[in-house]
Amino acid sequence: MKDQQSPGDTTPEEFRKQLHELADWIADFRENIESLRVAPNPAVAGPGAIRAQLPRQPPEDGEPFEKILSDVDRLIVPGMVHWSHPMFLGYFGWTTTAPGILGEIITAPLNVNAMTWRTCPAATEMETVVIDWLRQWLGLPEEFGGVVYDTASVGIMHALAVAREQAAPSTRKLGLIRRPPDDLPRFRIYTSDQAHSAAEKSAIALGIGEENLCRVPSDDKFRMEISTLRRTIAQDRQEGFQPLAVVATVGTTSSASVDPIPEIARICREEKMWLHVDGAYGGAFAMLPEYEWVRNGWEMADSIVINPHKTLFVPLDFSVLYVRDLERLRRVFTLVPEVLQGDTIEGEKNYMDYGIQLGRRFRALKAWVIWRSLGRQGIMARLGEQIRLANLLADWIKTDNRFELAARVSMGVVCFRFVGANEKKLDNLNSELVEQINASGRAYLTQTKLRGRTVMRVGFGNVLTTEGHVRKVWQIIQETASKL
Ligand code: PLP
Repeated sequence: MKDQQSPGDTTPEEFRKQLHELADWIADFRENIESLRVAPNPAVAGPGAIRAQLPRQPPEDGEPFEKILSDVDRLIVPGMVHWSHPMFLGYFGWTTTAPGILGEIITAPLNVNAMTWRTCPAATEMETVVIDWLRQWLGLPEEFGGVVYDTASVGIMHALAVAREQAAPSTRKLGLIRRPPDDLPRFRIYTSDQAHSAAEKSAIALGIGEENLCRVPSDDKFRMEISTLRRTIAQDRQEGFQPLAVVATVGTTSSASVDPIPEIARICREEKMWLHVDGAYGGAFAMLPEYEWVRNGWEMADSIVINPHKTLFVPLDFSVLYVRDLERLRRVFTLVPEVLQGDTIEGEKNYMDYGIQLGRRFRALKAWVIWRSLGRQGIMARLGEQIRLANLLADWIKTDNRFELAARVSMGVVCFRFVGANEKKLDNLNSELVEQINASGRAYLTQTKLRGRTVMRVGFGNVLTTEGHVRKVWQIIQETASKL
């Protein structure tokens, strides 16, 4: 019999009604996304403007869902940068898709904690399955096992923790403090001057130290310079450092350049160093026959990170760390608290053992839904379209002598620079162009620095972005430049 006194949950009838309302809200939002500004108007919605409209006091009594949803429309939607807008071309334009939304919705009512196999067998086993699907798509050898984390930054940190443990096997037990130098070497990690700052964050978190992250210069194609890497390692050894790892990138954040992984892998083998491949953005392009080359040398890597939430249509957050012989990762982090002793079954994966996180969302489900919905062919078609659009924009840029390409087009990224004014003013003008376009609410771009010069950057990724949108953004860029 129903307990009338229990505050409980929304009644089933009411909940069904709300879900229908929400379904319409989501479908309307998706259908009408183009009618929205891509970003809020900075003139009327500066920092603090949204907070000022939200009550400071926490709610004393419950409020109806209709009112909450209408506040989402009134306060939240206008206060957003709409990453799912087809004219959002910032960063790595990651995307919303209908199947991705459905995957998130299905995950919500299940709301399990996938920390051990026993606490949710389906979540654990599906995680293993989707990680292996991706491994097959990428052509990675079977000896690579993986784990899903929220972000690549977290993946890199875990990979380097294994590297550190391998080089100084007692670190897990003894820590880093007050260890004699012959017991705990002074480690160095190498990455290119184009690599993501996640490598520094790992060095900070792991007690290796930011200063021990060496930035190796890149060549004219923004790829790590191999001769300098070799020289720096040799010099560091002479000075008493122990070279620990190289973090090489497939798809750098600014220009999507690709480091020469096979050469780096050979150096790592010779020097007995860990090789981590940061394929957070670019790794997924290995699925395309014309980009298969990006995975050359991966078989010699110790770890590889891929962000399906950037490039493979999975809603944020979903990042996979692959480790050759995943057991090496488990050995560093396995630790079973008393309360879970009965919940860990030998021979089954307990994903809490593969990192610092205990509680874990059922992230694999949304990947399973989107990847089944698109299939390999659907994924490849969409990645191919991003490359086509990037090259199309680059071709248009070449026809206007006020602009020049700032890097070779790689994957779905176009870096270019406005050069139609006095050289001294160009950095400011490029920055100003991006600011003005973003403030207009009509499109959203990113600015970055290449060789110390400010450049504009378009990143493709959104499934709603068509050739028409690219034409439009190019017009906006040209018009804005004309008014400078
Ligand atoms: N690596 C590269 C090449 C990136 O571009 C980024 C972010 O853009 C990261 C790592 C960090 O990714 P995450 O936000 O998943 O930590």
